[in-house]
Amino acid sequence: MTPTYTTEDIKRISAHFGQTPKQFKDQWLKFDKKEKDWQNKIQPCQFLNLRDHKCSIYEIRPLDCSGFPHLPKKKMVDYIHVHKQNIEYCPATYAMVEKMQKMLGV
Ligand code: SF4
Repeated sequence: MTPTYTTEDIKRISAHFGQTPKQFKDQWLKFDKKEKDWQNKIQPCQFLNLRDHKCSIYEIRPLDCSGFPHLPKKKMVDYIHVHKQNIEYCPATYAMVEKMQKMLGV
């Protein structure tokens, strides 16, 4: 799993490292033609500090990370595949599904 990077994310994060957006993309990102977005080349994310398990660029992290788990991002039916993927490890997504089950009486 990788975050996606908007043009603004790339500008902000590359500037933080004193790189041009092109240098940053060349070093860390690949363009996914199918999804049409910029993603990490490696996993786990290069900005994950493996000693303390915290994001090393938390204050300037990609919008995709700050908006996780994306509950209001798109209509539920258009994003259900992402919620299904997240339910195993995201308490917020799990709570949303529980709430929906109660509402639907299932
Ligand atoms: S929150 Fe930070 S470490 Fe986690 S995926 Fe996003 S940029 Fe990488």
